[in-house]
Amino acid sequence: MSAEKREFQAEVAKLLDIVVHSLYSNKEIFLRELISNASDACDKLRYAAVTQPELAEGDGAWRITLIPDKAAGTLTVTDNGIGMNRDDLIANLGTIAKSGTAEFMSRLTGDSKADMTLIGQFGVGFYSAFMVASDVTVTTRKAGEDQGWCWTSEGKGEFTVTEAEAARGAAITLTLRDGESEFLDPHRLRAIVKRYSDHIAIPVVLKDGDKEETLNSASALWTRSKSDITPEQYKEFYHHVAHAFDDPWLTIHYKAEGAIEYTGLLYVPGSKPLDIFHPDRKQHVKLYVKRVFISDESEELLPPYLRFLRGVVDSQDLPLNISREMLQHNPVLAKIKAGLVKRVLAELKKKAEDAEGDYATFWDTFGAVLKEGIYEDFERKADILELCRFRTTAGESLASLAEVAGRLKEGQDEIYYVTGDDVAALKKSPQLEGFLAKGIEVLLLTDPIDEFWVPAVGEYAGKRLRSVTEGDVDLAKVAGGDAAAQPEPEPQDGGIDTLVAALKLSLGERVKDVRASARLTSSPVCLVADSGQMSMHLEKLLKAHRQLDQDSARVLEVNPKHPLIKGLAAKVASSGREAIDDMAWLLLDQARIVEGEPPADPADFARRLAAVMEKGLGG
Ligand code: ADP
Ligand code: MG
Repeated sequence: MSAEKREFQAEVAKLLDIVVHSLYSNKEIFLRELISNASDACDKLRYAAVTQPELAEGDGAWRITLIPDKAAGTLTVTDNGIGMNRDDLIANLGTIAKSGTAEFMSRLTGDSKADMTLIGQFGVGFYSAFMVASDVTVTTRKAGEDQGWCWTSEGKGEFTVTEAEAARGAAITLTLRDGESEFLDPHRLRAIVKRYSDHIAIPVVLKDGDKEETLNSASALWTRSKSDITPEQYKEFYHHVAHAFDDPWLTIHYKAEGAIEYTGLLYVPGSKPLDIFHPDRKQHVKLYVKRVFISDESEELLPPYLRFLRGVVDSQDLPLNISREMLQHNPVLAKIKAGLVKRVLAELKKKAEDAEGDYATFWDTFGAVLKEGIYEDFERKADILELCRFRTTAGESLASLAEVAGRLKEGQDEIYYVTGDDVAALKKSPQLEGFLAKGIEVLLLTDPIDEFWVPAVGEYAGKRLRSVTEGDVDLAKVAGGDAAAQPEPEPQDGGIDTLVAALKLSLGERVKDVRASARLTSSPVCLVADSGQMSMHLEKLLKAHRQLDQDSARVLEVNPKHPLIKGLAAKVASSGREAIDDMAWLLLDQARIVEGEPPADPADFARRLAAVMEKGLGG
């Protein structure tokens, strides 16, 4: 059969171009990537062979071999794992299937230094071979199939796939570029394997002529005792198991003994994985049974709100021949899950208490994910709430609910919050003015998830959680604050009532109601939700996701103390309602704009604004 030439997916071609043309400071990591893939391939076949022993073809002595060939200038990495057939080759080595790829690509700038940092987080895996190789050949046969295949490429936009003789597993041969011959040197290879791949659970053998030498410890890292593992080794294992390239923020390694026995080696990553908000909310910790890899997507192992965790869990109690289907509703696994959740939350609590600043970085990275647990894990709700941190109007640092509850003003029996897109904009919300004037602390909630857990929880330590944008919040009962800045009772001249009635008539259906406000101090108007109405921020989120296509009418509050409002009241009294009709609409649009909404009708808005400005000039 003739060779079949194909083009790389556009994303791969772009990635390869960056990989090859950027000066990567530690090119040696290509070997870690190839060994990591070889180890994954052996894990996959070992698991498949539990139920289909014939797949192993009598060879279950898993190993990875490095073969430097000085004469040919090539380095070959072989394994006797699962291998690939033609379709696998095209899918796995011609495209990037990783979720988050599109977002990753869109963040590449073309500036090689910035891009390299990004790639460092994303990882280039197999393609890193092209950092040192002018061409790469993969000769492979998939377990259980007769036909072997050869994939070859110079990493320049195309690759070729041909039928070939091949042993089960894969052999990756790199023709090293000029100047890269160090990767043929046994000393160098020994040092690289020791540094990056010592934790690999199967032997990595160097074949130098007739001599064979195992370079790694070849025992699963998590089975070793903590005192025998260096921080570097923990980190390298994290890179392997998580397919990640950052430093872990937290490493948790423990052995559960008693009714259920398992070992957990779990990591909290230092940076946000690109797919953390992917709708499938998959967890990523790998499940092993007596050191045999079973699954890296068992949903029964950890709840979605801990999906930022990476690592392995190795059970002594599950049967080795357990199928992935049997994992569902398995009572042993349910107990392991409960134990893991408890342990992880306890470790996070320790960090929150002992290392506040460090915990803040975790919170900024994964807080929005953890908060999902507040309403998804009824049993752990209280524990998770204690782990939550918030920005508030009281200062720059993060606060816990306990701290906020401890700082309530005299007479304050509710904890107030406001939801929106970002802290800076929220701090300027007109609805907050009365609270700020009285020195009442308000939680500034900016994660979409906040719209869901807050109503679900309802209260903390007996204090109701209340949005400042609710229409009937009563600030009069709370003591304190700068008297001058506080909202005054409305003037008793009755002018405001006439104005409110006039505004209602002008705006009609477009507002739910018009009211004189007690919460405004410096803004003339704001919008609030009537009690029982959906919050304005939630409505905005739903509209953005096309879950909702029209907005509901809101309550327009006017500030009786504001000169503009006083002036309008006087105008209505002297000249009648029609005299302020344009201004009524402008007030409503102004309140919308402050909320980050467009004017209800931009053309009308522009026309009225021009008319009012013209009058201003004339007067
Ligand atoms: P990742 O390991 O993160 O999935 P890589 O770029 O390192 O990404 O590898 C891409 C895919 O190619 C792997 O997921 C695997 O399916 C396949 N692959 C790579 N090397 C091997 C190998 N030695 N044996 C079998 N499959 C392999
Ligand atoms: Mg890989």
